[in-house]
Amino acid sequence: MATAWFGPCPHCKIALSYLQGVTGSTMTPLCPECRQPVTVTRATLLMADHSRPSTGWKSGDAQR
Ligand SMILES: [Zn+2]
Repeated sequence: MATAWFGPCPHCKIALSYLQGVTGSTMTPLCPECRQPVTVTRATLLMADHSRPSTGWKSGDAQR
């Protein structure tokens, strides 16, 4: 089952869409912005989330 959630890149902090279980997902997805691998627990496809303002993310708030 495909699951989508939103969170910041752990490296460059841009808003990302984490799409789990979709075609093209991988256990070692690369951030589309900084090209660093992001650690995930399920196969995930990363997409830059331009639909949300980056100022909406507060430090630590999305990590819980
Ligand atoms: Zn990044």
